Amino acid sequence: MSDNGNEDHLMCPSAKCDDGAILLGVVQKNGHIAFLSEKLTVNNEFIQIAHKGRMPEKRFRFANTCVMSGCKQWTGKRCSVIDEVIKVILDTVEEPNEIPDCSIRSQCRWYSQCGAKACAVCPEVVTDLNVA
Ligand code: SF4
Repeated sequence: MSDNGNEDHLMCPSAKCDDGAILLGVVQKNGHIAFLSEKLTVNNEFIQIAHKGRMPEKRFRFANTCVMSGCKQWTGKRCSVIDEVIKVILDTVEEPNEIPDCSIRSQCRWYSQCGAKACAVCPEVVTDLNVA
């Protein structure tokens, strides 16, 4: 799937816990993400509480505006993260019939780039700030 021509409004689904980010999902004990079907915006109160435990990005997934060339993962045309994850995971795991009920699909960079394949592997991704 190609980019949708609305590049400026696409969101990164593996963003930092910042004021104004969307809380996309919660990391479960088995490491998979449970997605929120409603779009919840993170505020400062949430950020302060979330930073009291382990890093919030290890316990939750956040979405925020894709900064394209402002990110190390941008190749110049696309996000390399989802391409790499699909390459590694879809080689070892069958693509499920259902995809998560996710609140940002129409604006998601990964979905715009890779379609349902992105959603098939997305629940396996825990944000790594060292590569963001
Ligand atoms: S890849 Fe799919 S499931 Fe993941 S955030 Fe984007 S639209 Fe949602």
